Amino acid sequence: MALLEIRNLHVNVEGTEILKGLDLSIDSGKVHAIMGPNGGGKSTLAKALVGDEAYEITEGEVLFNGKDLLDMDPEDRAREGVFLGFQYPVEIPGVSNTYFLKAAVNAIRKHHGQDEIDAMEFLEMVRERARRVKLDEGLLQRPVNEGFSGGEKKRNEIFHMSVLEPQLGILDETDSGLDIDALRIVSEGVNAMRDEDRSFLVITHYQRLLQYIVPDVVHVLVNGRIVKTGGKELAEELETKGYEGFEEAAA
Ligand code: ADP
Ligand code: MG
Ligand code: MG
Repeated sequence: MALLEIRNLHVNVEGTEILKGLDLSIDSGKVHAIMGPNGGGKSTLAKALVGDEAYEITEGEVLFNGKDLLDMDPEDRAREGVFLGFQYPVEIPGVSNTYFLKAAVNAIRKHHGQDEIDAMEFLEMVRERARRVKLDEGLLQRPVNEGFSGGEKKRNEIFHMSVLEPQLGILDETDSGLDIDALRIVSEGVNAMRDEDRSFLVITHYQRLLQYIVPDVVHVLVNGRIVKTGGKELAEELETKGYEGFEEAAA
């Protein structure tokens, strides 16, 4: 059974159909990349998967671990193990990074019938994960993303993912605005999490990120549909040839 199974997904945004019958299947342990031109619907797919209410599902189904994902509210999707890193991470004034994460970790544990995490165990885990992505320990007590630099926000996003340990990590253009060192750190953070029980959906406009996070499968999303699927070499092909041929085929 696939971890994520998307069948014939149609999504409207403000009355306009953006996803037009998208099919995608992701097995456990695999990293799938989605590439495609601007405006094709990549972020729409990510938002629809996490249950953003601005994205109206008009047709199709999404199964996560065999369960109907579209029937769950956003919080339950997160507790079931779906994580979305934001293209533009949100600031949460007045709520410290560690406080936020502890609440999130405990909500996930409660959802799975587990007790709250031990305070010391949590602190040690958080410190270890912060070191892993070279997140300055000072940022742990600061309000989430408030006053963080662009690079710090991206690192923080990967840090949150490594603490929450989702089964499916969705990264939407995590590479935009990253310098090469930050890109490497973010990629190392993701690669350290690669595991036979965890999958990733890496959305990117450029091939560069995929040199660091080497995908198992690459899809091309144009005009609301997956128009081509291949191996990692497809990303290289797109980098040299661009999306022109695909855009004509999709039109
Ligand atoms: P991509 O991530 O591939 O660049 P998007 O999914 O962001 O593409 O956008 C696909 C189309 O949907 C674009 O034409 C965009 O303008 C439109 N769109 C996406 N989100 C919204 C929104 N919240 N409100 C209005 N239009 C939107
Ligand atoms: Mg259809
Ligand atoms: Mg986008």
